[in-house]
Amino acid sequence: MKKILPLLSLFLVAIFLWSNCFSQQSQKKVLRTIVIDPGHGGIDQGADGSFSTEAQVSLAVSRKLGKAIEQEFPDSKIVYTRTTDVLPGNKSNKTDALRYRADLANSSGGDLFIAIHCNSAPPIRHSEITGYKTVTSYKGKGKKKKKVTKKVPQYHYWTTPNPAEGTETYIWALSKNDAKVNSVSKIEEDYGEVDSTSNITLPDPSDPAEKARMLIYAQNYFRKSLTFADLIEKGFQSQGRTYRGGVKQRNDKGIWVLQATGMPSVLVEIGFMSNKDEENYINSEKGQDEIVANIVNAIKDYKQKLESRQITSDDKKAF
Ligand SMILES: [Zn+2]
Repeated sequence: MKKILPLLSLFLVAIFLWSNCFSQQSQKKVLRTIVIDPGHGGIDQGADGSFSTEAQVSLAVSRKLGKAIEQEFPDSKIVYTRTTDVLPGNKSNKTDALRYRADLANSSGGDLFIAIHCNSAPPIRHSEITGYKTVTSYKGKGKKKKKVTKKVPQYHYWTTPNPAEGTETYIWALSKNDAKVNSVSKIEEDYGEVDSTSNITLPDPSDPAEKARMLIYAQNYFRKSLTFADLIEKGFQSQGRTYRGGVKQRNDKGIWVLQATGMPSVLVEIGFMSNKDEENYINSEKGQDEIVANIVNAIKDYKQKLESRQITSDDKKAF
């Protein structure tokens, strides 16, 4: 027995060291590279606020996010699609820039893709009748000619700022008919990306290469993207941000990049440029620090879920 005990303890120490080493290895594998994609840039400033633009705010928050991730996860490498106020890759148009974002994410071997954007809602139009104008016209010809008078209402039109506020986190919608689409919020009108994406041309979705890429996304990255997006939205709620229905799905041009990246991916709309209070908040140190802290917490929880294998492999029958 006296000889067995030291041997046994040696054996246990060896097992402990081996398992420790193994777990460290698996932890490193989970999030080796995180790609941060500040929306817009350069000639494409995105949504306008009263004193700032979406491209500027997205870049400021993205840079802070990258620094916070570096501190929290020193083993993870950060890749930015842009670090200055230009279109990614110094491209001259939005289409090329969008492809550059996806290509850079893929060639960097990213494990997670986070796009940062700001929302915007159009002003609300109002009208009221200010009075009536009498309009005279004639009907018929010759002796039958009749004078007709009509009162026409006169309108006064004006707009007021849209009070929409809060955050939205998007993932790529596999298909509008897919059952999973119903498990999260319905695809809603998005204000912020409509104008900025109108002149983007993308590959034909019926092209076999595009179809294959979407299938790969669906099989491997949809569930992970949804889990991560949900953590982000729940975090924003706990910070007191206005709830706008949780994780949303879209499959339009503005977020094409999400399925073009071979990794789980989310697009976070951190607040509304069109709302004065929110524009102030997302420009402030306090606001930016809170947004960054929330996303870092979401990454922590997501990483932990991956390491403990709480997120099972993705649905093989996504379509
Ligand atoms: Zn945007």
